[in-house]
Amino acid sequence: MPEAPTPRLADDKGRQVSYLRLSVTDRCNLRCLYCDNQMSHRLTHHDVLRYEELLDLMGLAQGLGIGKVRLTGGEPFARRDFMDFLERARARFPDLSLRLTTNGTLLAPFAQRLAAAGVDRVNISLDTLDAANFARVTGQDLYPQVRQGIEACLAAGMRVKINAVAMRGVNDAELPGFLALARELPVDIRFIEFMPMGGAEWHARQVWKAEDILAEAKGLAGLTPLPRDADDAGPAQMFAIEGGKGRLGLITPLSNHFCASCNRLRITSGGVLRTCLFSDRVYRLRPALRHPGLGLPAVERILRLALRKKPVGADLLALRQAGQGVSATSMSSIGG
Ligand code: SAM
Repeated sequence: MPEAPTPRLADDKGRQVSYLRLSVTDRCNLRCLYCDNQMSHRLTHHDVLRYEELLDLMGLAQGLGIGKVRLTGGEPFARRDFMDFLERARARFPDLSLRLTTNGTLLAPFAQRLAAAGVDRVNISLDTLDAANFARVTGQDLYPQVRQGIEACLAAGMRVKINAVAMRGVNDAELPGFLALARELPVDIRFIEFMPMGGAEWHARQVWKAEDILAEAKGLAGLTPLPRDADDAGPAQMFAIEGGKGRLGLITPLSNHFCASCNRLRITSGGVLRTCLFSDRVYRLRPALRHPGLGLPAVERILRLALRKKPVGADLLALRQAGQGVSATSMSSIGG
């Protein structure tokens, strides 16, 4: 008799989970002003999952119906031998859609290898197109390196999405520049509303709302809304730009949440499972993973149980905005 297929991952609200964001490190070479990335919070070497353990988790996820894994950090390229790990992942899981989120500063030398490993699209976080502002926002003078990373990925045939955290007083004067870039290059520029996360400072007045960005963008360019395409756009509302090679996108976790269609899980580099970005309810997978008598079957049980209670993050976020913290963990350790 053929073996019964393993049931796929679904939560108690019927949401099917098909997407894993897997952080490979909590270390980053940037110190972005909105991201509480303090040295003192860092995991010890022993507590970070080994590459072999990350591969085991990817295999488990794939077996449970997860078809897309996004590698994130900290900064993925800040971990030693990250590119070798990614190539091993590709060799072991040829059918998995492997994606990457990076700050782009260390990316350029690896673009060809990434493309050869079947990473056909890369998300690059870039909040400003001004080198001096970049240094102010990130604490590092590495803007030219990010631009080289973008060019190298495009030259290697990858699709590039640029993610900018939309912040009043930080980049709200730069919409014309970002639109010009999306006209010139085939890149998606996606603005994401600034979320209250971890220990980083957050004030409502700093949020540059998607509706304000859209209103301003309409005065600068002809925009046509594009149908939502879950695989490609994710939670972003995308717009074609008249006469442009690239597109504009808006990601609205604050003003228009997308919890009803949330299909993702997050696992940190320390092996902590989060079923919702805004919830501090976490599940520690590492002890089970490393326990000689438990291992992956126990991790699978935890995953299934945790998922049943996957929260609706918007409710938690509303509390957070009202000043009642719900996510005490920083983005650098969750991975975005
Ligand atoms: N180092 C990689 C990078 O820069 O893309 C991956 C990790 S980073 C934490 C992932 C994403 O989270 C980045 O695009 C970053 O801008 C975004 N992010 C961090 N804090 C945020 C916040 N408070 N609100 C919105 N996005 C945030």
